[in-house]
Amino acid sequence: MRTSSKLLAFLLLIATQSAVAALNIFACEPEWAALAQELGGDKVSAFAATTALQDPHRIEARPSLIARMRSADLVVCTGAELETGWLPLLLTQGGNAKVQPGMPGFLEASALVTRIEVPKVIDRAQGDVHPAGNPHVHLDPRNIATIAGALAARLTQLDAPNSAYYGARAASFADRWNAAMQHWREEAAPLAGVPVVVYHRDMSYFIQWAGMREVGSLEPKPGIPPTPAHLAELLERMKREPAKVIVYSPFSSPRPAEFLSSRAGIPGVMLPFTVGGSERAKDLFGLFDDTIGRIKEALRGAPK
Ligand SMILES: [Zn+2]
Repeated sequence: MRTSSKLLAFLLLIATQSAVAALNIFACEPEWAALAQELGGDKVSAFAATTALQDPHRIEARPSLIARMRSADLVVCTGAELETGWLPLLLTQGGNAKVQPGMPGFLEASALVTRIEVPKVIDRAQGDVHPAGNPHVHLDPRNIATIAGALAARLTQLDAPNSAYYGARAASFADRWNAAMQHWREEAAPLAGVPVVVYHRDMSYFIQWAGMREVGSLEPKPGIPPTPAHLAELLERMKREPAKVIVYSPFSSPRPAEFLSSRAGIPGVMLPFTVGGSERAKDLFGLFDDTIGRIKEALRGAPK
């Protein structure tokens, strides 16, 4: 009897410890929650503060997010001012010392890669929401590989007893990701040189990776909604520099793209933008499969 109750107590202790051992990860965007889950497996519990249907520039610092922040062991966000309107408030209100910027519990993904479109002159007065360069770094698959390495190292740092586990998962992810990148390189070959109009400049890293050419954006400046005057100017410009496809994110209104699509006679296509943005984009692999697939599909209907 005594032995079995001791055993029970021991088992309970193990169960409690393994439940406690799971790292609580607060990811600002779905792509980082997906990556953390890939690398952390059942040793982490990854929460995404936003969905693919939300504009990550514009999120409300809700009490439920503050509560999540309070219990987080690691915060993984894009940075580069993407979350400037809500993350600082969550960090302050959450009052969680171990996840503040500069601590091991805080990882800024965009700081790990080379940012593009860094403005020479910062002019927030004009409402540009990309003053620190383009923050949407996750759409270059090479950036995902780099950030995965840093994130796996961080998991190991925060949860050393499971370092072998994280190491094995990181190696497995790197293998599968490298193979996928090779496959995507071939799949995306027909996209090279294709001129594209974007809604918001959130596809720039993908466009650069695929060798596409961005010839305009529906927004006059990142974060400024399309205006009739800007769309008219864009249509005029497209007469000289025609585009083949217009792309937009799940959280953007399709109407400006539809307007331009009908006037310019080129297809408009919604891209998943992040994990959860379409049925096929159920993980990071599906995100790139679907992004490439949708653009190619749209181009089949584009004028030659
Ligand atoms: Zn943006």
